[in-house]
Amino acid sequence: MSTTQELQHIDRTNVWHPFTQMAEWVQNDQLIIESGKDNWLIDTEGNRYLDGVSSLWTNVHGHCVLEIDKAVQEQLTKIAHTTMLGLASVPATELAKRLVDILPDGLTRVFYSDSGSTAVEVALKIAFQFQQQAEKGDPNRTKFISMQNAYHGDTIGSVAVGGMDLFHATYKHLLFQGEKVTTPYCYRCPFGKEKANCNRDCFQHVEDVLEQHGSTAAAFVIEPLVQGAAGQIMHPEGYLTHVRDLCTRHNVILIADEVAVGFGKTGTMFACEQENVTPDIICLAKGISAGYLPLAATVASEEIYNGFLGKHEEFKTFFHGHTYTGNPLACAAAIANLDYFEDNNVMEKLQPKIAHLQNRLATMLELEHVGEIRNHGIMTGIELVQNKETKEPFETATKIGHKVCIEARKHGVIIRNLGDVVVLMPPLSITLSEIDLLCNATTEAIKAVT
Ligand code: PLP
Repeated sequence: MSTTQELQHIDRTNVWHPFTQMAEWVQNDQLIIESGKDNWLIDTEGNRYLDGVSSLWTNVHGHCVLEIDKAVQEQLTKIAHTTMLGLASVPATELAKRLVDILPDGLTRVFYSDSGSTAVEVALKIAFQFQQQAEKGDPNRTKFISMQNAYHGDTIGSVAVGGMDLFHATYKHLLFQGEKVTTPYCYRCPFGKEKANCNRDCFQHVEDVLEQHGSTAAAFVIEPLVQGAAGQIMHPEGYLTHVRDLCTRHNVILIADEVAVGFGKTGTMFACEQENVTPDIICLAKGISAGYLPLAATVASEEIYNGFLGKHEEFKTFFHGHTYTGNPLACAAAIANLDYFEDNNVMEKLQPKIAHLQNRLATMLELEHVGEIRNHGIMTGIELVQNKETKEPFETATKIGHKVCIEARKHGVIIRNLGDVVVLMPPLSITLSEIDLLCNATTEAIKAVT
């Protein structure tokens, strides 16, 4: 194997990293991971780091999980890939039933793809086409309503329903237009309210948007409960139910993007469960295969699915599909992932861990530059501010969030920031003592840098 120095040289010479300003990609950042075990990552020098963001919110049971390793290995002895265009495979078929069994009732038709972005892209196209052609559709419904600060992925459709200027504004001339709902970001309430005088203007606002645009909207896209990439912005209780009710009232398809929140991260298997909401379409990725292989699923209701049925020459077919759609290896990993959840009572065991994490976070709030800590389940955002009283942010150029994350490495922890929000999202398999390490390291890093 190449030495660390050789690998770093190649990395600097030939690799272009995602979401990374390569001109500032310095040796300091160039940690090269060689292996992983449980909740730990091990670099080429043998240093161990706690995976504090579950490898981008994905490895829900950590790394090298014996049962999932075995399932993938077994599948490898049978077949690695076969197409779903005109054929079915054993793992893709079995996984569909397993997903339908655990999803909110009424979501019955599984369409596979390979990333969160494509899961959303598929959902948008399904919703649009349904409105164009289904008996229960309406061809005048051509717009999408989505949230300000939303992140749904990086393909053009998912960018169009995104709402983070930093990532999305550059592409505005490429994008279809839609309506954006102002985010209920309580720490910096866009309606100028504080907790004490909050009369839920955000509920009225989304109602107004639907009143105005509901009759021309194909679908409403939302990250249920938590807007992850926006900095773990947590919606007020009841907001998702309110959106569901409004969509029903205005006949708008509700698309729940559970790419980030799905598979246990909010404390229940799916975030929608917490408000007893059944969307018309749900998007799944990340934790679906426990970080083993790229896989995503867009699951639709029977009513939506029926809108695509007809004779070939009616051209109601959903003309969409990726080469790796329903890849058997990935589906085998996903089935083993769901088995692991069940066999190890992962969701039950998670509850005391969440309580412990919340206790630890409460003390971190006392730090001088911690403005707010947002937590739901295992998902956590620590918003750093220059001035706690005024909530004045740090200058962007200070890159304070990034510095905290680099500093945390000295304490054996990998975490990642979203601007000035430091994100903690460990694997669900994290132990209580590892939660202590994660919180201690983050605390020390914040103290050292701010
Ligand atoms: N949707 C949400 C809510 C996400 O958080 C993400 C990624 O973070 C995506 C979609 C895009 O997923 P992917 O990076 O797999 O394309």
